[in-house]
Amino acid sequence: MQVLRDYQKLIAEVDQFCYEIRQRYGKYITCKKGCPGNCCQRHITVFPIEAFAFARALLQLSPEQASHIRYRARLASSFGPCPLLEDGACLLYGSRAIICRTHGYPILSEYNGHQSVGYCHKNFKELSSVSADRIIELAPLKIFLGKPKKVVGLKLRRIRYSKSA
Ligand code: SF4
Repeated sequence: MQVLRDYQKLIAEVDQFCYEIRQRYGKYITCKKGCPGNCCQRHITVFPIEAFAFARALLQLSPEQASHIRYRARLASSFGPCPLLEDGACLLYGSRAIICRTHGYPILSEYNGHQSVGYCHKNFKELSSVSADRIIELAPLKIFLGKPKKVVGLKLRRIRYSKSA
């Protein structure tokens, strides 16, 4: 399915981008399995294409593993922790959503014409700025995830953003 292939390409590009961020700023990034921070402790929303990718990933698991995840998902509260988080690790890590792949890293977003860069407060503590070419721009990701069929020539843009993070 073309949409899913495009989504996989986007994930590969996001992972590469995040890898480059870690290459440059690894010593300032504390994200790790079992982090006591709360990024997976609150509910997240996913786009339909991401939910579809979860469903496909479940098909690759044993019936016992898949039913364990479905059971946890049925018990989950809309505003509780992610039901895929168990013992500090993600049960579908390889198929995690874009927000989970990028959370904690510098992300440029725009609201009411105002741009800002956000990142986890546990990261980048000793830094006063982050290079513009290591900041993830949220808009193209949302555009693709919201309307994957309409996007042609998928590419994460290297942004031009001079303000210090
Ligand atoms: S984003 Fe923050 S809370 Fe989440 S794993 Fe990274 S450091 Fe921990």
